Amino acid sequence: MPKHVPSSLNPRSPLVLDTRDLPRRPGALRTVKRVVPAPEDLGVELIGVPAGADLDLDLRLESVSEGVLVSGTVSGPIKGECGRCLREIDDSVAVNIQELYAYENSTTDTTTDEDEVGRMQGDLIDLEPALRDAVVLTLPTNPLCREDCPGLCPECGVRWDELPADHSHQQVDPRWAALSQLTRKEE
Ligand SMILES: [Zn+2]
Ligand SMILES: [Zn+2]
Repeated sequence: MPKHVPSSLNPRSPLVLDTRDLPRRPGALRTVKRVVPAPEDLGVELIGVPAGADLDLDLRLESVSEGVLVSGTVSGPIKGECGRCLREIDDSVAVNIQELYAYENSTTDTTTDEDEVGRMQGDLIDLEPALRDAVVLTLPTNPLCREDCPGLCPECGVRWDELPADHSHQQVDPRWAALSQLTRKEE
Protein backbone atom coordinates (compact mmCIF):
# COMPACT_ATOMS: atom_id res chain seq x y z
CA MET A 1 0.00 0.00 0.00
CA PRO A 2 1.39 3.39 -0.91
CA LYS A 3 2.33 5.33 2.13
CA HIS A 4 1.39 8.97 2.21
CA VAL A 5 3.94 10.89 4.10
CA PRO A 6 2.37 14.15 5.21
CA SER A 7 4.05 17.06 3.49
CA SER A 8 6.63 18.68 5.69
CA LEU A 9 7.10 21.54 3.28
CA ASN A 10 5.86 24.98 4.04
CA PRO A 11 4.14 26.36 0.93
CA ARG A 12 5.13 29.85 1.98
CA SER A 13 8.79 29.03 2.26
CA PRO A 14 10.66 31.03 -0.42
CA LEU A 15 12.25 28.01 -2.08
CA VAL A 16 9.13 25.87 -2.14
CA LEU A 17 7.28 25.92 -5.42
CA ASP A 18 3.53 25.45 -5.29
CA THR A 19 2.13 23.76 -8.39
CA ARG A 20 -1.53 23.88 -7.42
CA ASP A 21 -2.39 26.13 -10.34
CA LEU A 22 -0.37 24.07 -12.82
CA PRO A 23 -2.74 21.62 -14.54
CA ARG A 24 -1.53 18.01 -14.37
CA ARG A 25 -1.73 17.76 -18.11
CA PRO A 26 1.50 17.14 -20.02
CA GLY A 27 2.61 20.33 -21.69
CA ALA A 28 0.95 22.70 -19.23
CA LEU A 29 3.33 25.49 -18.34
CA ARG A 30 3.77 28.08 -15.68
CA THR A 31 6.57 30.51 -15.07
CA VAL A 32 7.88 31.49 -11.70
CA LYS A 33 9.74 34.75 -11.44
CA ARG A 34 10.48 35.89 -7.97
CA VAL A 35 13.17 37.28 -5.77
CA VAL A 36 13.76 35.32 -2.60
CA PRO A 37 16.21 35.59 0.28
CA ALA A 38 19.13 33.19 -0.04
CA PRO A 39 19.20 30.36 2.50
CA GLU A 40 22.06 29.96 4.97
CA ASP A 41 25.33 28.36 3.87
CA LEU A 42 24.67 28.54 0.15
CA GLY A 43 28.20 28.10 -1.09
CA VAL A 44 31.58 26.58 -0.46
CA GLU A 45 34.24 27.35 2.11
CA LEU A 46 35.72 30.51 0.61
CA ILE A 47 32.85 31.87 -1.43
CA GLY A 48 29.08 31.80 -1.49
CA VAL A 49 25.81 33.66 -1.64
CA PRO A 50 25.40 35.65 1.58
CA ALA A 51 22.43 34.46 3.62
CA GLY A 52 19.44 36.67 2.96
CA ALA A 53 20.85 38.15 -0.26
CA ASP A 54 18.46 38.51 -3.20
CA LEU A 55 18.21 35.37 -5.27
CA ASP A 56 16.51 35.83 -8.60
CA LEU A 57 14.43 32.85 -9.64
CA ASP A 58 13.49 32.70 -13.28
CA LEU A 59 11.92 29.30 -13.71
CA ARG A 60 9.62 27.37 -15.95
CA LEU A 61 7.42 24.65 -14.52
CA GLU A 62 6.20 22.16 -17.07
CA SER A 63 3.80 19.29 -16.51
CA VAL A 64 5.12 16.04 -17.88
CA SER A 65 3.39 12.67 -17.67
CA GLU A 66 4.99 11.65 -14.39
CA GLY A 67 5.59 14.92 -12.68
CA VAL A 68 6.83 18.45 -13.09
CA LEU A 69 9.98 19.51 -14.89
CA VAL A 70 11.54 22.61 -13.39
CA SER A 71 14.05 24.48 -15.53
CA GLY A 72 15.51 27.93 -15.65
CA THR A 73 18.10 30.06 -13.95
CA VAL A 74 18.80 31.23 -10.46
CA SER A 75 21.14 34.15 -10.01
CA GLY A 76 22.45 36.15 -7.13
CA PRO A 77 25.45 37.91 -5.64
CA ILE A 78 28.41 36.03 -4.25
CA LYS A 79 30.92 37.18 -1.70
CA GLY A 80 34.12 35.54 -0.75
CA GLU A 81 37.81 35.78 -0.27
CA CYS A 82 40.63 35.41 -2.78
CA GLY A 83 42.44 32.15 -2.10
CA ARG A 84 45.81 33.82 -2.75
CA CYS A 85 45.68 37.34 -1.37
CA LEU A 86 42.61 37.19 0.91
CA ARG A 87 41.14 40.25 -0.78
CA GLU A 88 37.35 40.36 -0.71
CA ILE A 89 35.60 39.13 -3.83
CA ASP A 90 32.28 40.63 -4.88
CA ASP A 91 30.79 38.87 -7.83
CA SER A 92 27.60 37.28 -9.02
CA VAL A 93 26.60 33.82 -10.08
CA ALA A 94 23.94 32.45 -12.39
CA VAL A 95 23.19 28.76 -12.46
CA ASN A 96 21.00 26.66 -14.68
CA ILE A 97 18.60 24.28 -13.08
CA GLN A 98 16.83 21.40 -14.73
CA GLU A 99 15.21 18.92 -12.46
CA LEU A 100 12.31 16.52 -12.69
CA TYR A 101 10.05 16.11 -9.71
CA ALA A 102 7.91 13.00 -9.77
CA TYR A 103 4.30 12.98 -8.61
CA GLU A 104 3.71 10.99 -5.48
CA ASN A 105 2.85 7.36 -6.33
CA SER A 106 3.60 7.83 -10.01
CA THR A 107 5.49 5.04 -11.78
CA THR A 108 8.59 7.20 -11.63
CA ASP A 109 8.08 7.63 -7.91
CA THR A 110 7.88 3.89 -7.35
CA THR A 111 10.60 2.81 -9.79
CA THR A 112 13.36 5.33 -9.24
CA ASP A 113 15.60 6.35 -6.43
CA GLU A 114 15.08 9.67 -4.74
CA ASP A 115 18.68 10.56 -5.62
CA GLU A 116 17.95 10.21 -9.33
CA VAL A 117 14.64 11.99 -9.58
CA GLY A 118 13.23 14.59 -7.24
CA ARG A 119 9.95 14.05 -5.47
CA MET A 120 6.91 16.21 -5.17
CA GLN A 121 5.21 16.43 -1.85
CA GLY A 122 1.59 16.79 -2.82
CA ASP A 123 1.58 19.90 -4.98
CA LEU A 124 4.79 21.21 -3.50
CA ILE A 125 8.34 21.10 -4.75
CA ASP A 126 11.33 21.75 -2.55
CA LEU A 127 13.76 23.57 -4.82
CA GLU A 128 16.46 24.02 -2.21
CA PRO A 129 18.45 20.76 -2.67
CA ALA A 130 18.69 21.20 -6.46
CA LEU A 131 19.56 24.86 -6.02
CA ARG A 132 22.31 24.04 -3.54
CA ASP A 133 23.81 21.39 -5.80
CA ALA A 134 23.79 23.73 -8.80
CA VAL A 135 25.34 26.64 -6.91
CA VAL A 136 28.00 24.56 -5.17
CA LEU A 137 29.04 22.93 -8.46
CA THR A 138 29.39 26.33 -10.09
CA LEU A 139 31.45 28.04 -7.44
CA PRO A 140 35.25 27.80 -7.60
CA THR A 141 36.82 25.85 -4.75
CA ASN A 142 39.80 28.18 -4.97
CA PRO A 143 38.35 31.60 -5.82
CA LEU A 144 40.69 34.30 -7.07
CA CYS A 145 40.22 38.07 -7.12
CA ARG A 146 41.70 37.91 -10.60
CA GLU A 147 43.18 35.21 -12.77
CA ASP A 148 46.80 36.31 -12.28
CA CYS A 149 46.58 37.39 -8.66
CA PRO A 150 50.20 37.21 -7.41
CA GLY A 151 49.14 36.59 -3.82
CA LEU A 152 51.13 37.52 -0.73
CA CYS A 153 54.82 37.81 -0.03
CA PRO A 154 55.49 34.69 2.04
CA GLU A 155 57.94 36.59 4.25
CA CYS A 156 55.93 39.61 5.33
CA GLY A 157 52.40 38.67 4.23
CA VAL A 158 51.92 41.90 2.26
CA ARG A 159 50.19 41.70 -1.11
CA TRP A 160 52.69 41.68 -3.98
CA ASP A 161 50.40 44.20 -5.65
CA GLU A 162 51.20 46.67 -2.90
CA LEU A 163 54.94 46.06 -2.81
CA PRO A 164 57.61 47.66 -4.99
CA ALA A 165 58.83 45.47 -7.84
CA ASP A 166 62.21 44.94 -6.17
CA HIS A 167 60.72 43.99 -2.80
CA SER A 168 62.87 41.36 -1.17
CA HIS A 169 63.81 40.07 2.25
CA GLN A 170 67.14 38.71 1.17
CA GLN A 171 69.86 39.69 3.56
CA VAL A 172 72.76 41.13 1.70
CA ASP A 173 75.65 38.72 1.99
CA PRO A 174 77.95 40.20 4.69
CA ARG A 175 80.97 39.91 2.39
CA TRP A 176 79.24 42.02 -0.25
CA ALA A 177 78.15 44.43 2.45
CA ALA A 178 81.80 44.87 3.47
CA LEU A 179 82.75 45.41 -0.14
CA SER A 180 80.17 48.09 -0.64
CA GLN A 181 81.49 49.80 2.50
CA LEU A 182 84.92 49.87 0.88
CA THR A 183 83.58 51.27 -2.34
CA ARG A 184 81.83 54.00 -0.43
CA LYS A 185 85.06 54.95 1.39
CA GLU A 186 86.86 55.33 -1.88
CA GLU A 187 84.39 57.87 -3.09
ZN1 LIG B 1 43.89 37.92 -4.99
ZN1 LIG C 1 57.80 40.77 1.94
